[in-house]
Amino acid sequence: MLVQWSFSITGSIARYHSHHHTSIVTEPITSVIHPFAEHIVYFILFAIPILSTVLTRTSSIISITIYATYIDLMNNMGHCNFEVVPKWLFTIFPPLKYLMYTPSFHSLHHTQFRTNYSLFMPFYDYIYGTMDKSTDTLYETSLKKPDDVPDIVHLTHMTTPQSLYQLRLGFSGLASNPLTSTWYLWLIWPLTLWSMILTWIYGQTFIVERNTFKKLKAQSWAVPRYRIHYLLQWQRAAINKLIEEAILEAEEKGIKGDNFNKNGEIHLEKHPKLKVKVVDGSSLAVAVVLNNIPTGTTRVLFRGRLTKVAYSIVSALCHKGIQVVTVRQAGYEKLKKTMTKEDGANLSLSVKGCNEKVWLVGDDLSEIEQSMASKGTIMIPYSQFPPKKTRKDCFYLNTPSMVAPTSFGNLHCCENWLPRRVISAWRVAGIVHALEGWNVNECGDQLFDVDKIWKASLEHGFRPSPDRPLLG
Ligand SMILES: [Zn+2]
Ligand SMILES: [Zn+2]
Repeated sequence: MLVQWSFSITGSIARYHSHHHTSIVTEPITSVIHPFAEHIVYFILFAIPILSTVLTRTSSIISITIYATYIDLMNNMGHCNFEVVPKWLFTIFPPLKYLMYTPSFHSLHHTQFRTNYSLFMPFYDYIYGTMDKSTDTLYETSLKKPDDVPDIVHLTHMTTPQSLYQLRLGFSGLASNPLTSTWYLWLIWPLTLWSMILTWIYGQTFIVERNTFKKLKAQSWAVPRYRIHYLLQWQRAAINKLIEEAILEAEEKGIKGDNFNKNGEIHLEKHPKLKVKVVDGSSLAVAVVLNNIPTGTTRVLFRGRLTKVAYSIVSALCHKGIQVVTVRQAGYEKLKKTMTKEDGANLSLSVKGCNEKVWLVGDDLSEIEQSMASKGTIMIPYSQFPPKKTRKDCFYLNTPSMVAPTSFGNLHCCENWLPRRVISAWRVAGIVHALEGWNVNECGDQLFDVDKIWKASLEHGFRPSPDRPLLG
């Protein structure tokens, strides 16, 4: 009689509790989904420890806070439906296995129903033999993550410590606009300082974002160094080592393409057998700048460092019959040497030359140089970083970049100074190389076919920046 009665009680309790089990696949909120009476029972059960400390005059605000936090944390964690408890925790303290449950442990209670009854402490299931036999194997397999191998990696770096807040875990409000120095960012400088210290201690390249586009899986990896580091001579070796490690990691994972800002030839010389292709994207930067020059332009002033991109732009312009005026003697001579006689005739040196309507500028453009420009001058940067804008009556174009197609998924990190969904030409080049399957390097002095990559980029849906001016 008694046995029968207790059976019917457990039967109805089980039926009543089945409400919680309507979630076969649990989520954190499942942890508090119970019928009313069950809530009352839990309330009483969980109040016992608090009440006993109150009655024995041993309670404190701290103990109650810790207890309530622990209960909530464990309850939500146990229902989160992916394994979060690391293995090393059980390795350093094996008895923990009986004291703390894991999400995979409790997920079996939701799928099997008649096993793993314990909430928080699996100890009781071991005693009563209600432990699910697959508990340990499920825990092991849940911890194994499928290796997610991208087709291409874009290697980049942070600009300033504050650029951290534009990352995905930063502030979406800030990230939705190009980076400006806002007053409240200065208020959180202790946090900024901490992030710098952590970045320095961690010292490894990390994944910033994962993009999908057509059949391509792309990742952006950030080298944990700021722009200032790149300008410091004594930091070069450390940065090169980080880049080299990143390229080798890409090789090890079987990634096909690696695309990054600085010319990476030294790494290829060091590791000539690499399968991963290194693309610095200069050819597309050249194409974008050439396309940015307003139609009808006959004279252009070149003002900036002579980089690989600059050489190609100036040569291409001279070849097209556009007059290029340079202001620095040394640069003029170097450029002249690389050109044919006919093209070279279009290159001239003029120390005073400032009347040109179109200026090709690098990020080293100084305030004094800018003050010499006539009103309405169009400044077209060819460098990765933009020059500091000091003139309100001149027109500054974006650094070489293109607008991403709408199907370019999960795009959150743009260059800090570019409009949103506008990607730098160097990064687009890597993507286009991978989409087209061009199995070549583009680094050091090598330059890919400028027209070919421009056409391919347009075919894949990338658009020129919309801010191109007309020559007035
Ligand atoms: Zn249950
Ligand atoms: Zn549950």
